[in-house]
Amino acid sequence: MMHPDTILEPVGDGYVQINPPYPPATQEEMDSFWDLPFTKLPHPRYKGKRIPAYDMIKFSVNTHRGCFGGCNFCTIAAHQGKFIQSRSEASILKEVKELNNLPDFAGNISDVGAPTANMYGMHGKNLELCDKCKRRSCLFPARCPNLDCDHTRLMELYKKIDSTKGIRHSYIGSGIRYDLFLTEDGFVDQSSKPYLKTLVLDHTSGRLKVAPEHTEDHVLQKMAKPTFKLFERLRKEFDKINRDAGTHVGLVPYFISSHPGCTLKDMECLANHPALKGIWMDQVQDFTPTPMTTSSVMFYSGIDPRDMKPVFVERDPERKMRQKSYFFKNSSKKSGKPLQGSKQKPNIAGGKTKPNKKK
Ligand code: SF4
Repeated sequence: MMHPDTILEPVGDGYVQINPPYPPATQEEMDSFWDLPFTKLPHPRYKGKRIPAYDMIKFSVNTHRGCFGGCNFCTIAAHQGKFIQSRSEASILKEVKELNNLPDFAGNISDVGAPTANMYGMHGKNLELCDKCKRRSCLFPARCPNLDCDHTRLMELYKKIDSTKGIRHSYIGSGIRYDLFLTEDGFVDQSSKPYLKTLVLDHTSGRLKVAPEHTEDHVLQKMAKPTFKLFERLRKEFDKINRDAGTHVGLVPYFISSHPGCTLKDMECLANHPALKGIWMDQVQDFTPTPMTTSSVMFYSGIDPRDMKPVFVERDPERKMRQKSYFFKNSSKKSGKPLQGSKQKPNIAGGKTKPNKKK
C-alpha cells in the first residue's frame, strides 16, 4: 500500500508496534543514494582473502528497488517496498562507466539487476488508482489491468549500457518475472517478444533463471504464483528462440518443496512433469519460513490467512527431506543433472553462448 497504517498488536502486558515504512524513494533520491562514492570493494579487513559472495556481485549494477510480485514466501516487499523505485539512466550509466576503473574488470557485467530484473521503471498507468490500491500484488491472482508492463524503457537501457565504452557484455543474473511479458496465449504487448529475445540471446550468460516454484497449481495458489501453464508457454517460446538463432542457452527454473499446501504426492507430480524433461535441477530449496510473510503464517498456524481455511503443512524434518529428494529422483547425482532422463544435450552452465563483442 502507498499509505500503510501503523500496526499495534497486544503481546503479554504490552504491545508490539510496527511503524509504516518510509514512502517510496523518488528517482532523485535513488540517484542520490547510488551516486555516493562507493568503492565497490570489500572492507579492507578482507584484504587478500577471497569472498565467494563478492565474486558474484562485484561487476553487477543495481537498477531499482522493490517488487510488486507479492509472492507469499518472499520478504522483499517487506524491506524494499511493493512500489518500484528506479534510478535514472544517467545514474546507472555513470556507474557502468566507472566499472572500467575496477581491478580485473574485463568488460562483462554479471548482472543488470534488482529483486526482479524486468520491473525497471514499471508502475501503474493511473497512479491515482495505485495511491489508493490495497492489493499486495500487481500480478496475482491476475495481472492488474492498470499495470504498465512495457519493456521498451528497459531495452533502451540495455542498449545504452552495451554501447558504453569498455563494455563487452551485460548479463541479467537476477531473476525475472515472465508473467510481465507472457500469458498462456502469447505475449502481453509489442515490447514483450523483443524483450524475451534480447534477454535470451544478448543478456543471458549461459542459463536464464526463472522461478515457477512448483508445477501444481493448488500449491502455486498458496505461494501467490501464476499457473505452471505459463512456464510451459515460456519454455515453448524460449526453445523457439534458441532453435531459430542456433544457440544453446539453458533455462534454470527455481523450485521450492514443502511449502504450505505441498504434499509428497505434489512433489511426485513435479518430478514427473513432462514440461521439465531435460531441465537441470540445481536451483531448488526446501521451504524455510521467513519473517513477515504470509507463507510463514500458514506454516505456523496451519491456516491460510487470506481465507482463514486450514492448509496442509509438512513440518516433519524427515518428510520434508523426502519432499526435497523428489527434485533429484531421476538424477544420478544430487545436482547438476536433468530431472528426468533426456536425450537433450546439457545446456551450457555459466559459459559463453556467443563470441565476445569487441570494442
Ligand atoms: S492499481 Fe494495479 S498497478 Fe496500481 S498498485 Fe494496485 S495492483 Fe498495482
